[in-house]
Amino acid sequence: KNLKKYYGESANIFKRNPSVVKAVDGVSFTIHQGETFGLVGESGSGKSTIGKSVLRLSSITSGEVLYNGQNLHGLSKDEMRTLRPKIQFIFQDPYSSLNPRIRIGDAIGEALLDHGLCSKSEVRQKVLEVLEVCGLATHHIDRFPHEFSGGQRQRIGIARAIILQPDFIVADEPVSALDVSIQAQIINLFSKLQKEKQITFLFISHDLSVVEHLCSRIGVLYLGTMMELASRDDLYSNPLHPYTKALLSAVPIPDPTLKRERIILKGDIPNPADPPKGCKFHTRCPFATDICRAEVPEFREVEPEHFVACHLV
Ligand code: SF4
Ligand code: MG
Repeated sequence: KNLKKYYGESANIFKRNPSVVKAVDGVSFTIHQGETFGLVGESGSGKSTIGKSVLRLSSITSGEVLYNGQNLHGLSKDEMRTLRPKIQFIFQDPYSSLNPRIRIGDAIGEALLDHGLCSKSEVRQKVLEVLEVCGLATHHIDRFPHEFSGGQRQRIGIARAIILQPDFIVADEPVSALDVSIQAQIINLFSKLQKEKQITFLFISHDLSVVEHLCSRIGVLYLGTMMELASRDDLYSNPLHPYTKALLSAVPIPDPTLKRERIILKGDIPNPADPPKGCKFHTRCPFATDICRAEVPEFREVEPEHFVACHLV
């Protein structure tokens, strides 16, 4: 709710500091229980910062993260520790979070013991179960991280998260580092977990074709601001924001008789420390007019459950 995360602010809190980076600049959205919400944007749009803030792995400048009505950023350390198993994070590169000297069975089971969720004698059985759920042969349990491929490592990362039986998982670009053929396998694993475990996901990606498979609703971010938010079907069939249209126009459609208008964006994403005034997208928008350069467009509901921030819509 109105989440803000500014960097470089503390040095000069009373004056306007031009080097303040507004990585997340007042973003609000709701994730419904059991759904997979997709957050999409180019690098530097603030998606990872939001993902980490949502789980309180990163502090915030202001705003609230309400989880079942409780503001996570207002909880004590002890309260947070009790809740932690229920809210898990899956990283883009699971290898960096795996200790090369620890066998993967121990790495996966570690958190269960840390949180006192089962006894030492039960851990191995639980690990074997999640290995199977995640499509890893059980004989892998005593191997080391370097013995696995990228796709298998991501399965290990997923196993580590789900062994705690979480209600909510933030997955930050979990397939971006993988080959396309492997991506499809991991996406299938996510959709299996959605169906079988009723986990709620925040799924972060820069790739609209990836979120299309998994997400029921999708938010499109640009320079720390939500530009459009809609159900998957609305967003893909009726994108309203020029930025969303441009992103979608780059996604190939398998059916050659269907065509999307191709919108090529001018230039690069601007420096987040010095974002454009008015609509942050105006420097790249093919439809920008004077009002776009002067006034920030309001993020408003233009059709039921379809929100957009654009003067033109
Ligand atoms: Fe483009 Fe103006 Fe809409 Fe921004 S407000 S997306 S610049 S038309
Ligand atoms: Mg990121």
